[in-house]
Amino acid sequence: MDKEVICLSCPNGCHITVQETPDNNYQFQGAKCERGEVYAYEEITDPRRVVTAVVQTNSEEMPYIPVKTDKAIPKRYIKTLLTELYRKKINLPAKCGQIIIQNFMDTGVNVVITRTFPLDFLR
Ligand code: SF4
Repeated sequence: MDKEVICLSCPNGCHITVQETPDNNYQFQGAKCERGEVYAYEEITDPRRVVTAVVQTNSEEMPYIPVKTDKAIPKRYIKTLLTELYRKKINLPAKCGQIIIQNFMDTGVNVVITRTFPLDFLR
């Protein structure tokens, strides 16, 4: 059965039709470049997403701080990751890029803070 994937690798957003062949390979139609076939193959065989979230802090001034994964993580781990993030509490000050979870579940993916707080220029 054909599946349609929208490539998110660039703003073109190509609609790529993926057809599984009898010898368990895939044929791709609709990609304007090779990146689209790579994206569609990963989306069919091992879909991944960058995860963004907020994590609680010990500060009344900034009770939550934004975080994100530094790479796309397999979708099957996202719920577990969010559960862990929502249980965490970060002690401020914190720096943008600071790792709060390293190599989550041996995926090679870290979770990093995406905002410095307090801001250096306010000190
Ligand atoms: S297939 Fe190529 S041109 Fe199309 S959205 Fe993906 S990266 Fe962009």
